[in-house]
Amino acid sequence: MRKLTTLLSCVVVMLALAPRFSLQAQPAKELGYDLPKRKALVAERIDAELKGLDSLYKYLHSNPELSYEEEQTAARLARELKMLGFEVSEKIGGHGIVGVLKNGDGPTVMIRTDMDALPVTEKTGLPYASKIRTRDKDGNDVGVMHACGHDMHMTCWVGTARVLVALKKHWQGTLVFIGQPAEEVGAGARRMLEDGLFKRFPRPDYCLGLHCDSRLPHGQVGYTEGLSLVNVDSVDILVKGKGGHGSAPHTTIDPIVIAARIVLDLQTLVSRENNPLDPAVVTVGSIHGGTKHNIIPSEVKMQLTVRSTRDDVRARLLEGIQRITKAAALGAKAPDPVVYFHTDNFTPALYNNVDLAKKTSNVFRATLGDDKVIQQEPLMGGEDFSRYIRAGVPGFFFFLGTLSSDHVAAMKTGKAPPISLHSDFYHPIPEPSMRTGVTAMSMAALNLLKGR
Ligand code: ZN
Repeated sequence: MRKLTTLLSCVVVMLALAPRFSLQAQPAKELGYDLPKRKALVAERIDAELKGLDSLYKYLHSNPELSYEEEQTAARLARELKMLGFEVSEKIGGHGIVGVLKNGDGPTVMIRTDMDALPVTEKTGLPYASKIRTRDKDGNDVGVMHACGHDMHMTCWVGTARVLVALKKHWQGTLVFIGQPAEEVGAGARRMLEDGLFKRFPRPDYCLGLHCDSRLPHGQVGYTEGLSLVNVDSVDILVKGKGGHGSAPHTTIDPIVIAARIVLDLQTLVSRENNPLDPAVVTVGSIHGGTKHNIIPSEVKMQLTVRSTRDDVRARLLEGIQRITKAAALGAKAPDPVVYFHTDNFTPALYNNVDLAKKTSNVFRATLGDDKVIQQEPLMGGEDFSRYIRAGVPGFFFFLGTLSSDHVAAMKTGKAPPISLHSDFYHPIPEPSMRTGVTAMSMAALNLLKGR
């Protein structure tokens, strides 16, 4: 079975990263509209929607679907948008959906949710825990779980759609709500774009997205200005040798020894060849070769995750992997190894538009309070929301606190074991998390649409 951790492109949260700055809230009048009034309208709508959203969240949590298989999830989201009056197109780049709502002249704002779950067997013990099992693409029986919080993303997305539709007379513009498949495998955004997302539908002036965060308590949101997440590449290496008896190494070419050399030599790509001021990671996450003590196998398979913040650094790392692997084989008189770059699953680095990040985080501060809005360090994780930004649309991707504050405090002092996204124990506290998520996303959208 493939080692999943090397392939997952989704955000991997590191617990040690602490908040840095706390900017002062801008006075409401400087934000260009009557913020207290909008805040009150949004809060009132969320109060009315929360019970229904909680049921939706629990339904989605109990019924997860793996990447490329989000059929029922997409159908449910499509129904939600249709009921609100969106014009909905389905099967965009796989199971992707696009809902468009035109409401007079004004900017076009795209709001994205992802929809896929992970091959993880849930251990939360929640009454609404997933009991779903399925076969993965290699035929293995696996549990399925929304261990990355995409169920919460979808709930906030539907909640935001409901709020904005209910407040339709207060804004003008066009909403484009997209449900993206296959985020966990880094393919969904690319596929939706290749299927004409920005050509067949109104091209957005802005795009917004959020992701659950297992570092922040519910009630808080986190963000960066500029770099947020990094380039993520998955690489397979097949080291070829010549098998034989373990007692007669001189009659073989031992691929295990060559692979061991490759693992060590790869470390120099970061420690010797890379400018220390440019963050980079080369991790060999999986290595498999051989069956028995006394057999020298004929091949070894390795799987790598490669991370960088700059495209030139990425290119050099990938070239270096090719070069080092080939040189190790040459040194052992082995056949050329096969190096396979999973370019289809490449997740480009995510850079938030700085102006948009400043503008939106100021609205967050004025809405949620200064102490609830945390400017964070970038993470070495990846998210394919970056592709919409790379396609030329100014974008902002922020993080939503989801755990109880007691839990976060206990994790910081080592009194509770760290729980990260993708853990079989990870689960957001539903109601307060979605309240903040819907509030933040609705206020962000209203701030970009034309007021009336
Ligand atoms: Zn995720």
